This record gives sequence, structure tokens and C-alpha cells, in this order.
Amino acid sequence: MNGLYWIRNELRLEDNLAINAFLNECQRGIIIWCPTKSSKRAGSSRRKFLEDSLAHFNESLKTIGQELYIGESDIQYEIEKILHLFSIHKIYFSSLSAIEEKNDEAKIIKFCQKHDLQYESFDQETLIKSSNLPFEISAMPFIFSDFRKKVEQSLIIEPPVALTSKRNTPPPNFHYHQTLTTHPSLIFNGGEKASHKRLQHYFEESKAILTYKETRNGMLSADDSSKLSPWLNLGMLSARSIIYRLYDFEAKHGANESTYWLLFELLWRDYLKFFSRKYGNKIFLEDGIKRGKHYDSIKDLDKFNQWCKGATTEVFINANMNELNQTGWMSNRGRQNVASFLVHQLHLPWTWGAAFFEEQLIDYDCDLNWGNWLYLSGNGSDPRARIFNIKRQAEVYDKDGLYQNKWAP
Ligand SMILES: Cc1cc2nc3c(=O)[nH]c(=O)nc-3n(C[C@H](O)[C@H](O)[C@H](O)COP(=O)(O)OP(=O)(O)OC[C@H]3O[C@@H](n4cnc5c(N)ncnc54)[C@H](O)[C@@H]3O)c2cc1C
Repeated sequence: MNGLYWIRNELRLEDNLAINAFLNECQRGIIIWCPTKSSKRAGSSRRKFLEDSLAHFNESLKTIGQELYIGESDIQYEIEKILHLFSIHKIYFSSLSAIEEKNDEAKIIKFCQKHDLQYESFDQETLIKSSNLPFEISAMPFIFSDFRKKVEQSLIIEPPVALTSKRNTPPPNFHYHQTLTTHPSLIFNGGEKASHKRLQHYFEESKAILTYKETRNGMLSADDSSKLSPWLNLGMLSARSIIYRLYDFEAKHGANESTYWLLFELLWRDYLKFFSRKYGNKIFLEDGIKRGKHYDSIKDLDKFNQWCKGATTEVFINANMNELNQTGWMSNRGRQNVASFLVHQLHLPWTWGAAFFEEQLIDYDCDLNWGNWLYLSGNGSDPRARIFNIKRQAEVYDKDGLYQNKWAP
């Protein structure tokens, strides 16, 4: 059988059910990545991290006799083009949560049905498979703590799977147009190897995981938090692999509140992904899904540009925006503050802030970004109004001003 593996946010060989099925079932096959609407919106740092990650994934594929084909356009256009050169019987892909990505999937399913092609999709984006949830997604608890309590009562996290030993090869004379570039000077490098190196460092070398709960709000040190998000969101590392690594660590060194807290945060990730599947397009709307009072905004472009550039009246906000603009990274504490400032002090539409983050963040994830913004805007599922006192936040989280000095624009 000839197959096509449409790779999306799972740029990995390990713990990848889709690549295993593709390699096991097909004698010949093509692996393709295509630009998405969101990847076209990426600014410089995010684009470079994506390119770097694709280049590293291509290197990994070469070790199993495969190569990565980079589509010029969307997936349907590419499949139609490939079908003229090579007959394909089955298409493999992972299903994603966000609405644009879901729409892309729906188009491909329709295309397969029309052209009598087989297809198979794999649910491997989250820690907990949707079929292992103790409720239907449509009936998921509205607020996070109810969601977490329910899933923790019957937590099923399937173990990661190893790469199959079966191999297949691309069709002979298939023309690959490669535009793969590495960017070694980035603050994070792409690739599965780099992700495992980070995991090894955070768990085994620094053992910073043991103090994660106390340090996770820090803004300056590399080990304040796991810094796994860039790899997690492009799927160079699966959430399941992190948790099974955590179980091993706990068996060896003991569990504590900090080791549990990493699971807690990854449950936040799952919550926002299922939330996105449930509410679809609504997570992008300014009024969101809030039942009750809505916050009004003022569409002031000058104020928004000042916020984007880090030229507001608040030094703490400016430092965070400057770090984001220069590196594509901002700590969780920083993200919460700049979001709160934009919504509650500048009274700008939160959707503008979320769209700017989409361009800039190297760890951009649609469900996590828009979900967190919606939540902080007060139009999501936050049961409390979360308005940060920026000066107080700076005193608590950057008491000596070291962060603000380092990142002063
Ligand atoms: C306005 C705003 C926008 C955000 N946008 C994104 C985004 O685009 N991509 C993204 O990965 N995270 C986003 N986050 C969540 C969080 O800031 C990052 O996940 C975290 O800072 C990444 O660093 P880390 O891997 O060191 O996190 P750690 O603290 O080490 O946490 C480990 C993992 O848990 C998950 N996690 C942690 N905090 C959250 C959270 N608040 N919501 C959901 N999952 C969480 C992430 O997968 C993270 O990698 C956003 C938060 C806010 C407030």
C-alpha cells in the first residue's frame, strides 16, 4: 500500500502513533508538512523556531530512510498535486483541537471520501485521550478545578509508544523541494534531541523539578520553570512522555508537591484543548463564552502599538514586552501581567493582544494562547475577576529590579 502522512503538530518519531501506523502499513510513502493559516501569521522568532524544528525533524526522518516534503500551499492542494505523480491509498494524520485545524481535517476527510481514499486520524495531542475522559467533551465541567477533580478521580494516561522497527521509503524519483533552514542562534533549538536534553537537564541534572512549585513564577532563571512548551507545542515531545518521565523520576527520587504541580499544569493544557474543542470559534470572539457581565473595550491603535513595542507607562510591562519582541519568549508571570494590563488598564480588546502573541511566541499554541487570554479577559471560564496590580507584581516577582534592568527597552 502507498500512504501519505500529513504531519502537523507532532514533529517526532517517539510516541507517535500516526508515524507507526504509516510505517507499518505502507510499503511506500510520503511525509508532508504544509503551512497553515496560523504558521503564515508567524513573526520572525516563531517562524525561525518552526523552520529550525522542521529541519531537525527532517534529519530524524533521514535516519529511518524518509525525508520531509514541505508543501508550498495548503494540504488539499498538495495532495491533489501529489496524486498526479504517485498513487496514494491511505492518508494518516493527527487530529488537533483548534477550529481552523479542525476545518482543515474536515476538508481532507471530505476529499478522501470523494476520491475513495482511506484515511485514519490519531488522537495524540493531549495527555488524556478524549476517549479516556470520564465525560463527553460536550459535557465537560465549565471551570478548571471541577475538570481537574473529575479527571483525577479516574486518570488514564496511556504510556508513550516506541518507534516501530518497520520502515518504508518515498517513491522513486519523487521530487522534494526542500526549504529547510536551521537557526542555531535561537534561545531554544528545535528537534526531539534538544527536547530530551532539556528534559534530562530539568529532571536529572539540575533536579529543578523538585522546586518547580516555588520557582515557577520566576522570570529570570532558565530553571524557574520547565521551559518545555516550545517543544511540546510543535510536538517534538509528547505530554505523555513528560509524565512517564516524571513517574520514573518520582520512583527514583520521591514525589512532592512540585513534581505533582507539573501534572497539574499539563492538566490545564488538556483543559484548554478540550475547552477549545467544545467551544470552537467562540474562543476567538471578544465576548467569548462568559455568562453574565462583559468587559467593554476601546479600539485605540496608538495605545495598542505602545503596548506591543513595550512603550507603556509601566516599566515592568515594557520589560516583558521587550523580552518577547527580542526573543519570542515571555514567562507565565509576564504573560499574565501584560494581558491583565492590556485588558483592564488600557481597556483594549483582548483579542488584539492574543493576535500579537500568536505572531511572536515561539511556543505559540492556539488553544493555550487564546484560552489563557480569554480566561484573563474575564469573558471565559474564570470564576473570579483577575486584575493584577502591576506595581505590586513587580515588587513581588522582581523585587531587586534585575529582570526590569535586563530587559529595559
Ligand atoms: C496570556 C497568556 C498566553 C499564553 N500563551 C501560551 C501559548 O501560546 N503557548 C503555551 O504553551 N502556553 C501559553 N501560555 C501558558 C503558559 O504561560 C506557558 O505554557 C508557560 O509559560 C510555558 O513555559 P514552561 O514550559 O516553562 O511552563 P511550565 O510552568 O514548566 O509548565 C509546564 C507545561 O504546562 C503547561 N502550562 C503551564 N501553564 C499553563 C497555562 N496557564 N495554561 C495552559 N497550560 C499551561 C504548558 O504546556 C507548559 O509547557 C499562556 C499564558 C498566558 C497567561
